[in-house]
Amino acid sequence: MKPVNDGGAPEATGAAPRAGSRRPLIAGNWKMNAGGQDACPLAAAVAKATRELTRAEVVVAPPFTAIAAVAHELAEAKSEVGIAAQNMSAEVSGAFTGEISSGMLKDAGATWVILGHSERRQLFAETDESVARKVASAIAAELRPIVCVGETLEQREAGDTLAVVERQVRAFLDELAKQPGFGVIAYEPVWAIGTGKVARAEDAQEVHAFIRGLLAKASEDLAGVTRILYGGSVKADNAEGLLAQDDIDGALVGGASLDAAGFAKIVDAAHRLAERAEQG
Ligand code: PEP
Repeated sequence: MKPVNDGGAPEATGAAPRAGSRRPLIAGNWKMNAGGQDACPLAAAVAKATRELTRAEVVVAPPFTAIAAVAHELAEAKSEVGIAAQNMSAEVSGAFTGEISSGMLKDAGATWVILGHSERRQLFAETDESVARKVASAIAAELRPIVCVGETLEQREAGDTLAVVERQVRAFLDELAKQPGFGVIAYEPVWAIGTGKVARAEDAQEVHAFIRGLLAKASEDLAGVTRILYGGSVKADNAEGLLAQDDIDGALVGGASLDAAGFAKIVDAAHRLAERAEQG
């Protein structure tokens, strides 16, 4: 993780321009959990446990049904914790039974949306094209996208990791470039999601630097301000090593985000690293 506001000018070409203002972001993806009575207590516990950890930005992503209640709970607590949806339609309104639009999410209190999660790509047939349409639609609605990319185990073993990630990122790169810094990318190797098998920090860093290099080809500004999160079995005991990498600007956390105390430890690691970086 690079220091926040380090004032560094981007390098002329290639990967890893120095960060301008990449405040670490820790986002908790609750998946299809805590969508009822348990949502508000979990959100309140996250707000309480992370209140002082202000160098990191915190977002929770409850199921659709709990977004409005969680928004109310966090507003009552005067919490800075943001709310993400876990998916949305690319359409704005109309005859799309069962779908949820960006406007509905904003009305409910979301300011972020996770798009292209591998579970949606694998289980719900989302494609690079449909993800790109959703990214465009979210940005048009001023909903901040967290766009997920990542290779399967088969693709990694075939040596295709960077090619897969490049294809996925290129699909929505032009949309992110329209508003540098507004959207976030999450690199989530599919084999690490929900498996307890976390990527080695240096392997994750290699992919993050590669993604930043792709962004730099579009614009140095985009590369300098875009936060790239790592996701895949991040827990309190492995977060620091990942977050300490130059191009890892935060984490997208699944299972471990359902325990407020454990999730707060991940936020704490990001907060302390940012504090240390500020102090040089
Ligand atoms: C996720 O769902 O985005 C995720 C990273 O899950 P987990 O942390 O459980 O691997």
